Amino acid sequence: MTDDERQAALEAIAAEVRNCTRCRLHEGRTRAVPGEGSASTEVVFVGEGPGFNEDREGRPFVGRAGTLLATLLRSIGWRREEVFITNIVKCRPPENRDPAPDEIAACVPYLRRQLEVLEPALVVTLGRHSLGWFMPGARISQVHGTARPVDPSSGPRAALVFAMYHPAAALRTPEIERQSFADVASVPATLAAARARRSTGPAALEPAVPIQPEMTMTAPTPAQGARPTVTVTPAPDRDRPPAPAEPSATDAAADQLTLF
Ligand code: SF4
Repeated sequence: MTDDERQAALEAIAAEVRNCTRCRLHEGRTRAVPGEGSASTEVVFVGEGPGFNEDREGRPFVGRAGTLLATLLRSIGWRREEVFITNIVKCRPPENRDPAPDEIAACVPYLRRQLEVLEPALVVTLGRHSLGWFMPGARISQVHGTARPVDPSSGPRAALVFAMYHPAAALRTPEIERQSFADVASVPATLAAARARRSTGPAALEPAVPIQPEMTMTAPTPAQGARPTVTVTPAPDRDRPPAPAEPSATDAAADQLTLF
């Protein structure tokens, strides 16, 4: 598919989203927020849902959380225009409440189609609802800053998914903000791993990147000059119940505010 064809396909999906009435969230929206960014990107960031400003403008991550996301991207030398940014649900839940499971189920086919068009090498989840779709049962305080293979039924083929906190949670909690900058520093290295995995298969990672069964790879960190660690764990079994885990203080902070 050419970039023009990808752009046209994305615009067709966006047109459907703007007229969608599949779930109750259409009743309160000002504007649906399909997502935006480069049609030729290798990286897709997936947040949770539009907030107040996004609902007004019809664009993702345009409020304070969006400003922080742009700052996080700049810390690794990237611009938001170079990636694609979207959400699990495309319409704002009332009062920024969490999206309900049936709302996510109704909306996620749009995300799946966007990912099928973009075919990214790397999906970065922002927040626990996005994480829940790509890493079922995972707890964000335990998996942030780590990657694993994407279940192809989620949309992209042969991609890695990398977990990060939602920028809105980082705005509320300095420790989560610090962790977010540390996590995003690992994104370029994870993209390199995703490219290698896509071009030559998972086994080819091992000469360059030791993984058994957790993968550790190193790469220069533009923000800190350090060499971050990227951990890739096996893909989850969607039918397997989540492992019990005790909520941590950062889980609680991240759960307080997920939409922005
Ligand atoms: S949230 Fe998604 S499924 Fe629900 S009305 Fe909006 S676009 Fe349609």
